[in-house]
Amino acid sequence: MADVLIEQLIRAAALAVIRDADELTALDAAIGDGDHGINMKRGAEAVLAELPKLDGKPPADVLRASGMQLVMKVGGASGPLYGTLAMELGKALPVEPTRAEFAVALAKAIDAVKARGKSDWGQKTMLDVLFPLHRAVAAGEAPPAIKAKALAAAEATVPMRATRGRASFLGERSIGHMDPGARSSALMIAAICDALGG
Ligand code: ADP
Ligand code: MG
Repeated sequence: MADVLIEQLIRAAALAVIRDADELTALDAAIGDGDHGINMKRGAEAVLAELPKLDGKPPADVLRASGMQLVMKVGGASGPLYGTLAMELGKALPVEPTRAEFAVALAKAIDAVKARGKSDWGQKTMLDVLFPLHRAVAAGEAPPAIKAKALAAAEATVPMRATRGRASFLGERSIGHMDPGARSSALMIAAICDALGG
């Protein structure tokens, strides 16, 4: 992965959550506290402001610095979780990863999110998109297929009952709404897959 490419991918993901911030906030208003779009937009803007300073740095450094911005600037549960994902991915990636090495690094980063969130898949969170993402990457699927799976995985959180995060306070009433963090994950993955092309 060329250095310029990782910056393009991060930029694509940041622009996607800024574009769809209102949708994310509306989803969070239904089963949370209505700030997910605002949180993600703040984090994305902080990352975009940081990117020029990272010009020419190795992908690992770019990911670590971006993750740090998310941890520092995003109020809410999602900032530290997405920040952990980016920072740990940076730590785990070799300099020029193969697809298989990328999948291994992604698995480590997702494990770190699980540890930080004391959570797992099946609880109606971003992890319900990140797990299928890892499976698709490990299986060697192409970007358009990975995008479709991520978007479908977010949709699949609608009938789930939340058992982690703020939505879990609603119990049964969390059923029937898409998880905002699952949707933001899917939007970022979709944007990254679009940027990678077919
Ligand atoms: P907050 O819930 O603090 O207001 P956000 O609204 O920004 O933070 O983010 C909410 C999203 O974060 C949820 O939709 C869910 O996907 C994710 N999330 C919250 N808690 C956890 C957790 N413990 N593990 C994994 N994801 C979580
Ligand atoms: Mg919220």
